[in-house]
Amino acid sequence: MTKPSYVRVIIDRAIRRELDYAVPEGLLNRVGVGSRVRVPFREKSALATVVAVTEQSEAKGIRLIEAVVGEAPILSEQLLELGRWIGAYYCCPIETVMRSLLPQVIRRAEIGWKKQLFVQPGRKIDNEALEKLRKRAPRQAELLEAILRLEAPIRASQLLRQTSLDNQTLRALVKRGLVELREEAIVRDPHADEQFIATSNLILNQEQTHALKEIALALDSPEKARPFLLHGVTGSGKTEIYLQAIRAALERGHTAIVLVPEISLTPQTVERFKGRFADMQDAVAVLHSHLSEGERHDEWHKIHSGRARIVIGARSAVFAPLKDLGLIVVDEEHETTYKQEEAPRYHARDVAIVRAKIEKCVAVLGSATPSLESYHNAVIGKYRLVTLTQRIDEKQMPLMRIVDLRQERRKEKAATILSEKLRAAIGDRMEKREQTILFLNRRGFSTSLLCSNCGEARNCPNCSVALTFHRHPAVPGRLSCHLCGHTAAVPKKCPACGKDALIYAGFGTEKVEATVSQIFPKAAVSRMDADSMTRKEAYRETLRNFRTGNIDILVGTQMIAKGLHFPNVTLVGIINADLALHLPDFRAGERTFQLLTQVAGRAGRGETSGEVFVQTYTPFSPSIQFARHHDFAGYFQQELEFRERCNFPPFKHAILITARSAHEGRAKLSAETLRRRLKEALPKEFILGDATPAPLEKLQGQFRFHILIRGEAIMRLSRLVRETLDKLPFPEDVTVNVDVDPYQLL
Ligand code: ADP
Ligand code: ZN
Repeated sequence: MTKPSYVRVIIDRAIRRELDYAVPEGLLNRVGVGSRVRVPFREKSALATVVAVTEQSEAKGIRLIEAVVGEAPILSEQLLELGRWIGAYYCCPIETVMRSLLPQVIRRAEIGWKKQLFVQPGRKIDNEALEKLRKRAPRQAELLEAILRLEAPIRASQLLRQTSLDNQTLRALVKRGLVELREEAIVRDPHADEQFIATSNLILNQEQTHALKEIALALDSPEKARPFLLHGVTGSGKTEIYLQAIRAALERGHTAIVLVPEISLTPQTVERFKGRFADMQDAVAVLHSHLSEGERHDEWHKIHSGRARIVIGARSAVFAPLKDLGLIVVDEEHETTYKQEEAPRYHARDVAIVRAKIEKCVAVLGSATPSLESYHNAVIGKYRLVTLTQRIDEKQMPLMRIVDLRQERRKEKAATILSEKLRAAIGDRMEKREQTILFLNRRGFSTSLLCSNCGEARNCPNCSVALTFHRHPAVPGRLSCHLCGHTAAVPKKCPACGKDALIYAGFGTEKVEATVSQIFPKAAVSRMDADSMTRKEAYRETLRNFRTGNIDILVGTQMIAKGLHFPNVTLVGIINADLALHLPDFRAGERTFQLLTQVAGRAGRGETSGEVFVQTYTPFSPSIQFARHHDFAGYFQQELEFRERCNFPPFKHAILITARSAHEGRAKLSAETLRRRLKEALPKEFILGDATPAPLEKLQGQFRFHILIRGEAIMRLSRLVRETLDKLPFPEDVTVNVDVDPYQLL
């Protein structure tokens, strides 16, 4: 008998166990680690992934697998190892990890290639047959002549459209053996109708040359390489280094992954990569959340089959099934969108580092504002720091001006949207025909509706936040909740006290847009935020209009903060720099510093140098002052001291546990019980916080309680938390989440 004959599988359902099955002899040579199989499970059958092939099994009552789904094994041993690491580190069952490792369309194996029929002349054609046909079936003859005239292979649908003949005629010809049909898979390429202008390597400056040399050296002996942290100011040519490093990896026979935050996966970025590798057909696959299921299927197989050698994509592209991986680039490594906010709650940058270790390849993290975690790793020698201090062509960093809104307030009595100085600067740019970006990280028109008599605000009934007033969304003139989507009409009188004293307070991007249009009636103003960009094409159109100069002033949220490159933008206004600062989050200062630096980086990318106005009520807060002086080192130093003093990352890891329920009492009780059990289970070295109401106490109708645990030995802590949770039965209506290295502390 042939051996091995058992497989261990993970079923696509949360049962938290691996199961053994026997393999029928006929299927033996088609099953390997990573294969997808159909197995009997309880009364039904289920899809599963093979994680091991063995000669023996201890399991009792072993059953046979029913079928192999698809041809080749679809998950490499390295990716499986990565999956196991994610499960252990992020405190998450392996079946859940599988959901991220393999996209649903691949796991289910229901969608296949898009098939098309092609027509070619049959073998039985000769003059005699044609002559006969002309007499007896003129329409068939006409079609056949068309086929002979056109160059094979011809798409059946296209042929029938061109000749205005029908399918029946075609079928008749096939029956006579005069025509043959062939079914072929065609690739759904989301970028098929775009043209990419081929570009070649730029001549690197000194700093870039040094960086590339270091990376190339590492590519030659990757097993010894530490991950790189490429710290380069905005516009210092990091992307050019990625492009040339990828080329170097390809020349060595390897493949490469480039991760970018979803938000900066713009047409501009895709164009740069597709253009540089335009000499290699199909070399670049793009993965992002807007792909249709069919497109995702095709891109995935293009990668798996080895046709695509470079993958550029958002978070989940870190799992791209490339072979011979040589390089993983994580651009804007500090971006919080790399963190997945549902299970498995992994951080793509950290997963990239682990994948690089498993696959023995080089990792390059790049940023103008590295995260404290990564920079700390560079300082202590875990990563290798490479710095680019200069903008390309010695372009100046933009001049940062701070506008003290407290003084403005004394003058104007109302909250300032555009200070006098910023207003003057915009007017100046209008005259010079230069462009302006105005940034505000808050959507809507008014961010709350208050009663000036009793002080009550209109809150969402499901969430503990105020409702935002919108003027222009799908349902205009209504209040809406940004967390759960609840909408409500604007009341005439205060529902609490009955007085006709309601006032709108706070403002968002809609109001900024309206105000700017009012002050500068001649300006072409556009807004870019989640409300105005609901159509898929809107984003591209707005960017195009901005680039060609059809828009003078672009107002937007973080959507416009990242990665965009517009040479004619010489002014950036940050409408309110304090928004992030006051959140109850230990990263608030870090986020503010990063945001200011990134937004400022949009200014002065062309010939003329840029100017940035930062409006704030806290002009002396450290993150604002350090950002103003482009002083990353200074900011890093003081922030690091704060983190160490308070036992926050990067000095300690954190795990945030959330218990939630529609029933407040049960959520609270569950959290408190869990806290008591954790107290018994965790050694003293771990800092266990109390069970407390979350800052965002109520979300989508659920009451939420938090427990925050901190400690250094994260793998150990994860295991202890998992074990404690597994032993504890929670009521049906209570959900408990575990978030390792959390980024969302609300
Ligand atoms: P970053 O990624 O650091 O923001 P980019 O790679 O986007 O910087 O570079 C900024 C601009 O400078 C781009 O327009 C790019 O084409 C250009 N650039 C980069 N490197 C060079 C170089 N060595 N010579 C000339 N132009 C360059
Ligand atoms: Zn809500």
